[in-house]
Parts: sequence; C-alpha cells; structure tokens
Amino acid sequence: MIEDKNPQRTSIAQLGEFGLIEHLTKNFQINQTSTLKGIGDDAAVLNFKDKKTIVSTDLLIEGVHFDLAYMPLKHLGYKAVVVNVSDICAMNAKATQITVSIAVSNRFPLEALEELYEGIALAANEYKVDLIGGDTTSSQKGMIISITVIGEADENEIVYRNGAKATDLLVVTGDIGAAYMGLQVLEREKQVFQVNPNSQPDLDAYTYLIERQLKPEARKDVRTLLHALEIKPTSMIDISDGLSSEIIHLCKQSKVGCNLYEDKLPLDPQFINVCEEFDIDSTTVAINGGEDYELLFTIPIDNFEKIKGNPNFTIIGHMTEETEGIHLVTRANTKIPLKARGWNALSE
Ligand code: ADP
Ligand code: MG
Repeated sequence: MIEDKNPQRTSIAQLGEFGLIEHLTKNFQINQTSTLKGIGDDAAVLNFKDKKTIVSTDLLIEGVHFDLAYMPLKHLGYKAVVVNVSDICAMNAKATQITVSIAVSNRFPLEALEELYEGIALAANEYKVDLIGGDTTSSQKGMIISITVIGEADENEIVYRNGAKATDLLVVTGDIGAAYMGLQVLEREKQVFQVNPNSQPDLDAYTYLIERQLKPEARKDVRTLLHALEIKPTSMIDISDGLSSEIIHLCKQSKVGCNLYEDKLPLDPQFINVCEEFDIDSTTVAINGGEDYELLFTIPIDNFEKIKGNPNFTIIGHMTEETEGIHLVTRANTKIPLKARGWNALSE
C-alpha cells in the first residue's frame, strides 16, 4: 500500500551498498561535541570526558513490531528513534548519538528507504542525536531495523529501576492508553480498506490517538522539568509495555509493593470517548495498553508539595512494603492484584 503510492521506483541494487549509505546519510549533521568521528570510518569515536555513557538498543521486525499497511515509513523511522531515546530519558540521561542498522528485501525501492531516513532525520534533529553509523544489508523477506542509542549523564543524575522506597509516591507523565486505542482505530480502518479500497476514512475524531500511535515523542523534557523542581526520582522506567507491567518491574527491582489508584489515572477525553465507542473498559486499556512512551517514576513523599498540581505530572499511587503486594485500588475501593499482561497479551 505504502510502496505502491510512490510512482518512482529506483532499485537499491543500482546504487550499490556504498552508494546507498552515502545517499541516505549525506544530509545528517553532527551536533554533539562528544562526537569526534561519525559515519565514514570503520567505527565511530566518542568522547564523554567526565560523564557516564548510557547505551540502549532496540530491534524492530516488520510484521511483529510494525505493519507498513498503516505505518508510513517516515513515521516508522521517526518512531524507531523515539523509542530508543525514550529509554535514555528513562535513565534521567540525555541522548546524544544513534546508530541505525537496516535489512531490507528487494521489494523496497530506494524511495522507500529515503522516506524511512526522512523520519530518522526528523527525529535526530528534534532530539539532537547524531547519526554516527550503522549497517546495511539485505533480508529474504520484510524490513528489519535495529537502532542503538547512546547518551550521557553525570553519575549522580542517573536513575535506575531499583531505588523506590516503601513510602515513595508513584508519578506518571502525560496521559496513558491513547497509543493503544490509536492502534485499534488504525486496525479497524485497515480492515475497512481491505473490503473497500476506495473508502475514505474520516479520522478527525481520532487524531490524538493516531498521533500517539504513529508519532510518539520521548519525554526528553522531564529531566529538565524535574531538575528545575529540584526533584531526583528514586526509580524510573518508560512505559513501553503498559503501566501495569512497568509498575511490576519497578516493584520487583526495588523490593517494594504498590497501590495504584484507578481514579487517579490520567486519561485524555478523546481516549475515554473512543473506549466507549469500542466498548472497551478504559482502565483496562490504560493499565495494559502500551507504547505511550511516558515516564513512570517514584519520588520521596516530602516532594509532594513540589509536584502537586503540576500539569506535566500525575500522582497515581504510592509504594508500600513488599509484603503488601502490588494492587489496583478501584473506584469502588476494592483492591485487585496488578498483573503484567502487557502489550503483547492484549493485542493477541
Ligand atoms: P563496514 O564494511 O565496516 O561494515 P560499511 O560499508 O557497512 O562498513 O559502512 C560504512 C560507514 O557507513 C560506517 O561508518 C557505517 O557505520 C556507516 N553505515 C552503514 N550503514 C549505515 C546505515 N544504515 N545508516 C547509517 N550509517 C551506516
Ligand atoms: Mg557494514
């Protein structure tokens, strides 16, 4: 669908591997002083001086992690960078470089890769990360993208998953669940399209949800916001698999329990409306849906005054002793054990 829209099809083989890399990467600039050598040698060279280096990597497989029927390649490139940068944000660090490795089958023309790299370039520019290398190869079937992101932080700034204390508050940024409902909308439209290729979907009522699915952003602002409030989280994680599963990660690694309050969950009005339209329980989606790329963190309770009422943050619960377990406290004030259903279980 995406590929056929493009009338121009230049075969990748025409350029050769070196020509292809050169063509795709020629417009990228170096912004970070820590990048001493980027693309063009056998390896990149970085210099972080007295900073600690933070590294994370993600592998994306067509048909498993993305579907090109409704994911334009430009969005895919953007999102692939964002999900990596989000992991660096979740360490309370600053993303500085990426490497991008791709494997493509001969089904993809040069124009498709140009689109992908346009998205990568947009994100690299938005998050000020330098593209410093990668690898390019062919695949038998479909597209594979692997991105590695590198970041920097002062040693004392870094926040791990294992520092939460039993009296801490649990805080989330932004709102949650929208990306999952965006995917539901897109999947419904894909099915309509398969039945009637001339259908013109009216997606106005879903713009926020679709944007959350197709063009998520990493919360690079949170580090600065918290710094200004003089708050250092005791533990932090990004929400890629769903709130429940991320809470369980924080609890297990920090050896604490948690009470999460249903009535505190930050939900967008469009999200609530579309859950009603799909006849899905909004709390279930908010805690089990994934791909919101918001940050979830814990702070000492004496930071309450600093954070309360701040539009960027919502206090959604508090940590407890480990023996008390991990629970959702419902609006009816009953306690239900939280389960790590996560993204995959929901979408199966
Ligand atoms: P090698 O033979 O050492 O693997 P390559 O010819 O694959 O080298 O790569 C040449 C340069 O281009 C290297 O700096 C490499 O990191 C970079 N590069 C290769 N593929 C990509 C890509 N898909 N995106 C960005 N940079 C790439
Ligand atoms: Mg190579």
